Amino acid sequence: MADYVFTPPAIVGLPIADSNQLFPVRRVYCVGRNYAEHAKEMGFTGREDPFFFCKPTDALVPVATGEVTEVPYPSKTSNLHYEMELVVALGSGGCDIPVERANDCIFGYALGLDMTRRDLQNESKKQGRPWETGKAFDHSGPIGPIHPRAVTGTITQGSITLHVNGSLKQTSDLTQMIWNIPESISYLSGLFELKAGDLIFTGTPEGVGAVVKGDKLLGRIAGLGEFEIVMV
Ligand code: MN
Repeated sequence: MADYVFTPPAIVGLPIADSNQLFPVRRVYCVGRNYAEHAKEMGFTGREDPFFFCKPTDALVPVATGEVTEVPYPSKTSNLHYEMELVVALGSGGCDIPVERANDCIFGYALGLDMTRRDLQNESKKQGRPWETGKAFDHSGPIGPIHPRAVTGTITQGSITLHVNGSLKQTSDLTQMIWNIPESISYLSGLFELKAGDLIFTGTPEGVGAVVKGDKLLGRIAGLGEFEIVMV
């Protein structure tokens, strides 16, 4: 067998809550504008269908429970936004997965932040250019440990909140998603073959805003506890 010309990058593995095992990440999908009130604050009606974009796997930043994880403030932006999101981790996949069978693909759930260079994203929208510089930059995906569905049960509702420096900025309920979790999995599986190891950031509720170096972000989702980062 041929050798690689240099050492290949390591598989990105996320801790599983209360376990020594790791969840190996394959791809990171994100749902855009999946809460009507967030779509409205971004200048849309809230009735358009959601859509998908991706982050690179190595943009994920594992956030340990009970610690404040440092996340570097990225270059080339003066308007870095937080987007608190529920992340779904797949243990199996397929193509054209029916909505009724989509929950069976879920290995677990995690807290996540879809960090966004809003100034660069807005410029991309205006120019009709792709979103990578706004969404897919290094350290753009802080994510907590994976909580197995075998432990949490299937999540369909519950509060999702984000505090910045102790002040409540985002508060909603998972029932407010335009496409619920099985609908997102089913729709996405019609566009891409999903596989074990795929993550789906399921969209953010209203209340997004900017943070600066030194700001502390505390995210909570019912049933998944909380996680905390500081921008450095
Ligand atoms: Mn998002």
